[in-house]
Amino acid sequence: MAAGMALKSDKALVLFSGGQDSATCLAWALDRFGEVETIGFDYGQRHRVELEARLAVREAVAARFPAWGAKLGPDRMVDLSGYGALAESALTGGDDASVSETGESGLPKTFVPGRNLVFLTVAGAHAWLRKAGTLVTGVCQTDYSGYPDCRQDTIDAQARALSLGLDVNLPVQTPLMHLTKAETWALAHDLGGDALVDLIVEESHTCYRGTRGARHDWGHGCGACPACELRAKGWTEWREGRA
Ligand code: ZN
Repeated sequence: MAAGMALKSDKALVLFSGGQDSATCLAWALDRFGEVETIGFDYGQRHRVELEARLAVREAVAARFPAWGAKLGPDRMVDLSGYGALAESALTGGDDASVSETGESGLPKTFVPGRNLVFLTVAGAHAWLRKAGTLVTGVCQTDYSGYPDCRQDTIDAQARALSLGLDVNLPVQTPLMHLTKAETWALAHDLGGDALVDLIVEESHTCYRGTRGARHDWGHGCGACPACELRAKGWTEWREGRA
C-alpha cells in the first residue's frame, strides 16, 4: 500500500470507448461502485462514430437505469491524435481493406502499438486527479485478436507501474478478461436484463470500419470486419445457448 494520498475506494474510472465491451464494463462498474466516471480517447481512429456512440450509451444508461444514472459522473474525452499519428495502423490510417489483414509483425494490421498502455497511463493520471481508486477496462484475452497489450500479464504490470509511479494504490479491474463474447452478452444480461442488452445492441458501436449501416440482431455495423464478426458470433452463441 502506497504511503501517499489515498484515492476513493468506492469510485471507479471506466475506460469507455462506446463499444460492446466497454458498455458492459460501464454497467459492471455502476453495479459495484458508488461513483463512476468515464474517459475516452480520440486517437484518429477510423471508427470515429464510436465517439458519438459513447455519449449515446451514457445517456441511455442514465435514462433507463436511474439508480445507475445517479452514480454516473462526468465524462472526459482526451485528444490523443498525436499518438494516433505516431502509431499509424489500419485503424488510424491505411485503406479500408486492411482491417482484415495481418501485418509484418505477425499481428493483425489493426494492432495499434502500445494503445492500452497509453490509455491506462492517461486514465491513471485522470483517476489520480479525480481521486478514483479503481480503473476498469474491457480488455479481453479470450477472444482477443492477438493484441499483446490485452493480456492479463501486461495489465498487471501496468497497474503496478501506475501504483508506483503515482504513489497510490490503483488497481485495474478487467471484468471481461477471461470471457468469450457470448459470455460478455450474458454478463450484460445478468447486470441489466433485456433492457441493458437492448441498449447495448442499439447504441454501442464495435465495427472497425465505422459503419453504422444495417441493423442486425446484434446491432449496427458492416457485418464483415473482424470486430463485427466477433460481435455477431458471440451474439449467436449466446442466443443459442439461452434457447
Ligand atoms: Zn464491421
